[in-house]
Amino acid sequence: MNAPVKPSKLIKGATGDWEIVIGLEIHAQVTSNAKLFSGASTEFGGEPNTHVSLVDAAMPGMLPVINEVCVSQAVRTGLGLKAQINRRSTFDRKNYFYPDLPQGYQISQYKSPIVGEGEVIVELSDGDSITVGIERLHLEQDAGKLLHDQSPTMSFVDLNRSGVALMEIVSKPDMRSAEQAQAYVSKLRTILRYLGTCDGDMEKGSLRADVNVSVRKPGGPLGTRCEIKNVNSIRFIGQAIDYEARRQIGILEDGGSIDQETRLYDPGKGETRSMRSKEEAHDYRYFPDPDLLPLEFSEAYVAKLKAELPELPDEKKARFIGDFGLTPYDAGVLVSERESADFFEAVLAGLADKLRDGKLAANWVINELFGRLNKEGHGITSSPVSAPQIAAIVDLIGEEVISGKIAKDLFEIVWTEGGDPRELVEARGMKQVTDLGAIEKVVDDIIAANPDKVAQAQAKPALMGWFVGQVMKSSGGKANPKSVNDLLKSKLGI
Ligand code: ADP
Ligand code: MG
Repeated sequence: MNAPVKPSKLIKGATGDWEIVIGLEIHAQVTSNAKLFSGASTEFGGEPNTHVSLVDAAMPGMLPVINEVCVSQAVRTGLGLKAQINRRSTFDRKNYFYPDLPQGYQISQYKSPIVGEGEVIVELSDGDSITVGIERLHLEQDAGKLLHDQSPTMSFVDLNRSGVALMEIVSKPDMRSAEQAQAYVSKLRTILRYLGTCDGDMEKGSLRADVNVSVRKPGGPLGTRCEIKNVNSIRFIGQAIDYEARRQIGILEDGGSIDQETRLYDPGKGETRSMRSKEEAHDYRYFPDPDLLPLEFSEAYVAKLKAELPELPDEKKARFIGDFGLTPYDAGVLVSERESADFFEAVLAGLADKLRDGKLAANWVINELFGRLNKEGHGITSSPVSAPQIAAIVDLIGEEVISGKIAKDLFEIVWTEGGDPRELVEARGMKQVTDLGAIEKVVDDIIAANPDKVAQAQAKPALMGWFVGQVMKSSGGKANPKSVNDLLKSKLGI
């Protein structure tokens, strides 16, 4: 169970504190070449009605044939959510009329979904984490799309999306703030992207959320919820929750009650408005689809998919912390996008001694590289500096060929001009001077020229920093800082 909600997360009302309760139903488009029950392409952005088979257009007598890839993607997602995989599940018809649904029903899963209970660990910005329970995951078809803006007198329908496989992932009502709900969606999205089961592209509608919100007095019974349909950005999810919670609190504090209803979020106005009440809710008359056999899996089938899963963000994070001593924060930053984690793995693979320099490599990737990429508006996949180049720079620091400071200059050269870091260091004479003899000469000269500073430093050892600075400067930053420090201490007698 989750820890009690911290007081700061409660909302203050006129009649005392209120707690927000949130449960999410996420629709995630399955990554597959073909649709759930037909061979038509799922490709995004085709000309209207060019990716439509007779099955998707619901021509009479057409029979759906299950796409095995979509099934394995759903099972893999279930495994990634540490969920119960149901060895037997069934498809049902959810009956309703809408012009974007030529069949007159959506094939979905109702009583027996493919995946049962699971959980997602969600890290929050304050370093805490919560566990959000998964209620179920089921497979269903997407509908077509109505186009209302093409003609002044007519609406058109584009059936390209009709029949595309969706996973509906239903959470338990385990979230207690907009921030928690947003963090849950981004964590879920990360897991899906690691698994390669959904591209998570919310702008293209590949991931969208129905957001259930209720409020209650802390620790009291659950309140009546409203469901905000089809919210398609993480930012809007947060805004919709905050608006909706305050709306409900306002009604309750005025002595009213909440009607269970479906609402829509209007990002322009920043408010939710009613779409339909529970009384108007459809009776979908679910019944098992007679055209489809139940799905039945052998234990071996599930075990094979499990064995082939990629390493997921939680495990990767634990490994980065355990093997290389990264802080949980740094490890979290690296695993939060699959591409970033892949990049860091490629840097590790290029290091001469990854146990020695893994942590340093993480600092370089996060601070120097990500910092620079953000500043210049690049993503990690279009980084001008490659993983092998970062690995070479880190190697050179680890081997004490260059200092951290020179490494930054080297990074700058590699960023703007490219090139092999090792060759650059050689060609441009950037090597660190660890030769004590050479440094000693510089140290002696500076001490001889500054007797007053010597006396000051002897009285107050912290002033030795001035000498370190002078030696570094006269060596063009190439003197090994540790050798300089050691030498100065012995020469100055401090
Ligand atoms: P339905 O089948 O009518 O959609 P469910 O019980 O499956 O209802 O719940 C749908 C979603 O609503 C789930 O994500 C669940 O966590 C959430 N939910 C249920 N009760 C509440 C509540 N009182 N407050 C907020 N969310 C809730
Ligand atoms: Mg529902």
